[in-house]
Formats: sequence, structure tokens, C-alpha cells
Amino acid sequence: MSSKQLIAGNWKMNGSLAANASLLEALKQGVGTPACDVAVCVPAPYLAQVQTLVAGSPLTLGAQDISVHAHGAYTGEQSGAMLKEFGVRYAIVGHSERRQYHGESDDIVAAKTAAALASAITPIVCVGETLAQREAGQTEEVVKRQLAAVIHVNGHCISEIVVAYEPVWAIGTGKTATPAQAQAVHAVLRAQLHHAASEHAAGIRILYGGSMNAANAAELLSQPDIDGGLIGGASLKAPDFLQIIAAAR
Ligand code: PEP
Repeated sequence: MSSKQLIAGNWKMNGSLAANASLLEALKQGVGTPACDVAVCVPAPYLAQVQTLVAGSPLTLGAQDISVHAHGAYTGEQSGAMLKEFGVRYAIVGHSERRQYHGESDDIVAAKTAAALASAITPIVCVGETLAQREAGQTEEVVKRQLAAVIHVNGHCISEIVVAYEPVWAIGTGKTATPAQAQAVHAVLRAQLHHAASEHAAGIRILYGGSMNAANAAELLSQPDIDGGLIGGASLKAPDFLQIIAAAR
């Protein structure tokens, strides 16, 4: 288990200049000095706004994606160097919505992880099984395959990544993995990291994501191999996100 947990909000494609300003104002007022690290992963057009608004607060900035390329003819993409100019500390890579709607393969996710690391941005690498895969007893096999691709390309550098276990059936559905279900998968991922990065594995944060909310956060976050949360819907509501932050260590 790593010393400080990480609570990262994934705003997805939500927000506006006005809504972001009031959400961040409420978060800054309520966050105090958190025991955990906190990040908000915002839509790219709002990076400049949010960089200014979180300056001097415990909140740090994250992006929701990163290009595998450094620059050039890649319409619509943002490079690690560009994100870095806006103070981005984290980039979500391989979120299931990008795997599903944008055809991101395990190889692309591994390359995006490498691109983030090359820019000194901490990748939050998402893995997780669908409901059909869980019901077919394939959960372990799927998450291990997804993480193996990242380990294969990034080698010992994986000591610098954050992993997020996000069962696809729990994302945005209100269905949360039970603490025991989540812990079981986290233990599998920890063992895989241990195999790849031995002495660093204990320090690699493995977040849980999938309908984590103010009511269930404390129990999930108390599991031995759960080192934080990646929060979608509840990160858009200041009181809920603040309660989750308060439940973390
Ligand atoms: C996510 O999008 O990463 C997520 C976990 O969403 P939610 O919390 O809304 O299930």
C-alpha cells in the first residue's frame, strides 16, 4: 500500500466556464488540508481556466487523454508537452469509454502511458472487465492482459504509473463492485506489478473507479490494496467529492 491515497475526479465531457468556477470554488473552500492527493481531470478546453483556479490550492490538474505523438499532423490531439504547459500532473489513459468509443487497443494504451511518462505526466492507466467478461469468469485474464501490455512497453518505468481498476459494468451505472470484489482484483494487479517491478510495486497506487460515491467510499478506500479512487459522476458535486476526499488517507 502506498503512503498517500489519490482521489482523482474525472469530469468527462461535462462543465462550462461558469460551472467549473463554482465547483472549484466550493472544492477549495471545503478541502482544507487533505490527507490524500487530489486531482481533477478536466476537458482539454478548460485546462487553462482550471490551472489558474487551482493554483495555490491542494487540488492538482489532470487531463483525460494524451496523444502518443509529440507533434505534427494529428488533428484533434494534445501532446504531453502541450498538457505540461498548463501544469497537468496526471493524464487518464485507456479509460473504458475511450477503449469502447475510440477503438483504443491495449497497444495504444501502452503507447499513451509511455508518452505521458516521457513528458513527466503521471498516467492513470485504466483497466477493467465488462459484465459479459465477469460473468464468463474472465475478469483476471482481462485486467492482466490490459496491464501486461503497459508493463511490456514501459518496463521498470511502471513504478511511476497509477493504475485504476474500473469494472466497466460499474462505471456510471450506480452498481459498485463490493469492497471484497474490488480488493480481489486489486490484489491480482498488485501481484502482477510486484512481478514486474518488485520493490516498487507496493508504492504504485491502484485506484478503484466505478460508481464510487460519498456513501461507499470509506469502505472501498479501507481495503488494503485500494490506494484511492477515480471518480466520475460524484466528482461533479462538491459535497460528494469532498466527502470522498475526507474518507481517504
Ligand atoms: C469514471 O468515469 O472513471 C467513473 C468511475 O465514473 P463513475 O464514478 O460515474 O462511475
